[in-house]
Amino acid sequence: MIMLIENPAREIDCEITFKVDGSSLNVTVTPAYCASCRNQVDGFFHYQRANYGQVGTISCNHCGMEIHCTNRDSSQDAIFMIPEIYTEKWSYVGDDHLRSLVEIDFQDLYQINSRTLMELEKLLQEALGEANFLSAFDQEEIELLALVEQTCTALNITELPNENIITDERFHQLPANVNKWLNLLQVLTIIK
Ligand SMILES: [Zn+2]
Repeated sequence: MIMLIENPAREIDCEITFKVDGSSLNVTVTPAYCASCRNQVDGFFHYQRANYGQVGTISCNHCGMEIHCTNRDSSQDAIFMIPEIYTEKWSYVGDDHLRSLVEIDFQDLYQINSRTLMELEKLLQEALGEANFLSAFDQEEIELLALVEQTCTALNITELPNENIITDERFHQLPANVNKWLNLLQVLTIIK
């Protein structure tokens, strides 16, 4: 299922959960990119993976093209988008087809991965003098905003900047909760 989030205030309800080692990333909010007109589609989308990979269809507000969304069968850490004009080439997959397939890997786009989480853990450990701030979560799933809040409290960060951080040139804006996380990473110089 993929659906435009009409009210931006609801965007924050779309949880992003993961394990401390960066595995089992479960993303429910995504931006969209139209490979037909090469623009980020306006707004953000509520996303839930589909069992047989067929997530759903959205349309580009710039050129009107239908964009088909698919996922890997068992995980919600990526989404693939391909505009209607390219889907007929699906049966004879060539380079053209692959070039027009938009792959969104959330570990990269949202910078929620083993590298950033390990560096965060290291910083917290140094600052608090306590071992394993993150490992306390162990096998539990962490929610992104909760982690941002707990980290800010632990490190006495009272206010985060609200800079619009770009991690992928296809997207000029990312969901608010992700942008908060990216601002935290930037303040801590985990990302540049
Ligand atoms: Zn378009």
